[in-house]
Amino acid sequence: MSKTHLGHTARKRFGQNFLHDDYVIGKIVSAINPQSGQNLVEIGPGLGALTDPVCDEVDALTVIELDRDLAKRLRHHPFNGTKLNVIEQDAMTLDFTALLKSMSAPETKLRVFGNLPYNISTPLMFHLFDHAASIEDMHFMLQKEVVNRLAAGPGSKSYGRLSVMAQYYCHVIPVLNVPPGAFKPPPKVDSAVVRLVPHATAPVDVISLNTLERVCAQAFNQRRKTIRNSLKDCLNETQISELGLDPTSRAEVLSLKDFATLANAVSALEN
Ligand code: SAM
Repeated sequence: MSKTHLGHTARKRFGQNFLHDDYVIGKIVSAINPQSGQNLVEIGPGLGALTDPVCDEVDALTVIELDRDLAKRLRHHPFNGTKLNVIEQDAMTLDFTALLKSMSAPETKLRVFGNLPYNISTPLMFHLFDHAASIEDMHFMLQKEVVNRLAAGPGSKSYGRLSVMAQYYCHVIPVLNVPPGAFKPPPKVDSAVVRLVPHATAPVDVISLNTLERVCAQAFNQRRKTIRNSLKDCLNETQISELGLDPTSRAEVLSLKDFATLANAVSALEN
């Protein structure tokens, strides 16, 4: 399969797999349901597979593209400067809260979407979670395995740190599975689209998000170990029992609420 699409040679380091299946593109655009008056932001517009049909529906769209050649192409887009606002930047370093403040209707939260570069999709989502208060919703094409992990609950093989943290910030709704043939060049993995809707109020009270992340990372890095062992440097067996949790349980059976309970106990001990 040629790595060149619409005159552009796909760059692996930027995770470039361009959508070319009109059926899939149509499904994604209708899942996003873009409307005029919304603060729409696309990450990684590339050659415009999603940009063009979204632009047709709305009066304004901001796109963030890291690849200089693609950003240059986008600046030649017929809507550039009218409907289309091209930002040539690494989305990982973009302050989405400041971006919202700079918009003409900053009281209307951002609607973020994109066929994300898979090599940075997880850190990019964590970066966006930091700006969740400025975001109405997100629609992302990701590796199917990542969507499974985002949506997984306790007891599932896919359940892990990403599930707990994503579900702390967002309601996670898998939307559509997408086969490799929908892209040029085709990725080696299956893909899926997910909708992430930040919670209006956090589903559990957490004293320190850093501590929640740390406790999750520690418990899931040693997922075959009991939490009595994996968390022994921050909580002992008695302390875990006093929280109403079984010290012999493993991370994979604990709920978000259980992780919040453990993290809050660690925070209380550290203060
Ligand atoms: N949206 C297009 C499509 O569906 O055909 C392209 C998707 S391609 C998987 C990912 C896009 O993200 C590429 O255009 C790539 O250059 C861009 N990209 C990669 N890393 C980026 C980053 N850190 N910030 C912004 N864009 C990035």
